[in-house]
Amino acid sequence: MHRLLRRQIRKYLGEEVPRDPALSEFLSAVDAAYEQYDGDRKILERSMDLSSEELYEANERLQDEMKNQELVLSQLRNSMRSLRSDEDTSGADALSVSRLLQEQIGLRNEAEDVLRLAKEAAEAASRAKSEFLANMSHEIRTPMNAVIGMTGLLEETDLTPEQHEMVETIQSGGGALLSLINDILDLSKIEAGKLSLESTRFNLKSCITSSLDVFRPLLNGDSVRLVMNYHDSAPAWVLSDETRIRQVLFNLVGNAVKFTTSGEIVVSVSSHRRDGQVGYHTSVRDTGIGIEPDMLRTIFQPFSQVEDGYTRSSGGTGLGLAISKRLVEALGGEIWVESTVGTGSTFHFTFVVPETDQTPESIVPALAPDRPARPIVNDIRVLVVEDNPTNQKVVCRLLERAGVVADVVENGAQAVEMAKTEYYELIFMDVQMPVMNGLDATRAIRGLDIRQPHIIALTANAMAEDRIRCRDAGMDEYMSKPIVLTDLKNALANYQSLRRSRRNSLGQAEWS
Ligand code: ADP
Repeated sequence: MHRLLRRQIRKYLGEEVPRDPALSEFLSAVDAAYEQYDGDRKILERSMDLSSEELYEANERLQDEMKNQELVLSQLRNSMRSLRSDEDTSGADALSVSRLLQEQIGLRNEAEDVLRLAKEAAEAASRAKSEFLANMSHEIRTPMNAVIGMTGLLEETDLTPEQHEMVETIQSGGGALLSLINDILDLSKIEAGKLSLESTRFNLKSCITSSLDVFRPLLNGDSVRLVMNYHDSAPAWVLSDETRIRQVLFNLVGNAVKFTTSGEIVVSVSSHRRDGQVGYHTSVRDTGIGIEPDMLRTIFQPFSQVEDGYTRSSGGTGLGLAISKRLVEALGGEIWVESTVGTGSTFHFTFVVPETDQTPESIVPALAPDRPARPIVNDIRVLVVEDNPTNQKVVCRLLERAGVVADVVENGAQAVEMAKTEYYELIFMDVQMPVMNGLDATRAIRGLDIRQPHIIALTANAMAEDRIRCRDAGMDEYMSKPIVLTDLKNALANYQSLRRSRRNSLGQAEWS
C-alpha cells in the first residue's frame, strides 16, 4: 500500500513534491522503510547457509537492525500524520493518506478545467480578432484597387512635371499601404488557422535564383554582392509550397538588402536525407548593421522593430519575420537568427519535403509569369465580370490601354447567360459578387456545352487557399487585386502565347 501510494504521489503530484515538505518527507520515509525491508530479507536468506557462530553474529546484527527498523517505521508513521492537514491524528493510516491524495488530485483536475476553459476563451477571442482583421484587410484591398489602378492610368496621361510627381507620390503611398494590408491579411489569416499549404513539384534552385534577381536592382550599387551558394548534393526538385518558400526568402533577403550598405549577402542551401524525407537548410548571411541582443529575443514576434531612426527610415511593417516564422513552422521547419551588431546577421530556416523524382519537367509551362509584356493585337473577345462600378471602370480602362475592348456584366449569373450566347475567349471573373459568385459562375460555364473560355480570377482574396478554390472551380489563372497595367498586359500576352501553343498542339495549359 505504501509503495502504491508512493507511486501515485510521484505520478499525479510529482511537480508538487518539492514544494510540499510533508509529501517529500513521506516519500523519503517510504523509501527508507523499504530499503530496510529489502535489507532484512537479504540477511534472512543468507542466514540459511551459516554456521552456529556466524548465526549468533547475524542474530546480533539483526537485533540492531530491528531497533533501526522501529525508528524508520515511527518516522513513516509521523510523516503520514503530518500529511494530514486537519487536526485528526488518529487516522494516520495508509487509507487516510490515500483519501488525501484523492482530494489533492480532484483539486488539481478542477484547476486544470478552469485553466482549459480560460485558454479556450482566449483562443476564441484571438481567432475572432484575426478573422476581423482578415475581413477588414480584404475590404480595404478593394478600394485600393481603384486607387492604384486609376493612378496608373493617370500617370500615362499628359501631366505637368509637378502633377507627375504628385501621382508618383500617391502611387508609392498606395504601394506601401497595400504591402502593409497584405502582411496583416497574411498574419491574421494564419493566426485564425486559415493557412493552407499547396504541394507542387518545382525547382527550388530556380526559385531562389529568380527571387534573388528581383533584389539585384535594389542593392547599394557595387558595394554589395548578392551571391547564391546552392550545395551540389541538395536536390533541385522539391515537392512543397513554392509561394510560401518564396515568401520567406523574400522577407529574409529583403531585410538583408535593406540593412546592408556594403559587403555581401550570401544565400546558402544544403540538405540531408532521412527516412525518405529531405530536410533543407537555407541561410541568408549579410554584412549589414546587425541586431542588438535584446532585439534578437523578440524579433520573430509581430510588430517588432528596433526603434532607431535607421529602421524607421527604412520602413517595413515589423510583420515579415513573424509571418516567416509561422510559414516555416507550417512547412515542418524552424527559423532562427545569429547576429553581431556592426558585423552582420545570419537568418537560418529549415523545411522538410518528401524525396521526389529529380528528372526535369518535360513540358515547359506555357505561362511564364515574368515574361515581359508584348504589344497586344485587338483580336480577343473579352468579358469582364465585376460588380463594383469603380473596379469595372478600372479593369476596362486598363484593358483599353492594353488594346482590348471588353464587354462588362455585373454578376456571375449574367456571365453564364453571356457565355451561352457569345463566344468569349477570355473572361476576367471577380470572385465575390451578388446574385451568383465567380466560383459558381465558373462551374456553371464549365458545365456548358460550348467552346470553353479561358477564365482568369480577379480577386481581392490574396491567400493561397483562395487560389486553390478558384482552380478547383475550374478557373485557369489567378490575378490578385489591385490589378496594374503590367499584370494585365502580361496576362494577355501569356494568354496569346497559350492560344498559339494550343493551336500548334505543343503544350498544355498550366496553372500559373
Ligand atoms: P520589417 O517589415 O520591419 O522588415 P521584419 O519582421 O521583417 O519587419 O523585421 C523586423 C525587424 O528586425 C526589422 O525592422 C529590423 O529592425 C530587424 N531586422 C530584420 N532583419 C535584419 C537584418 N538582416 N539586419 C538587421 N536588422 C534586421
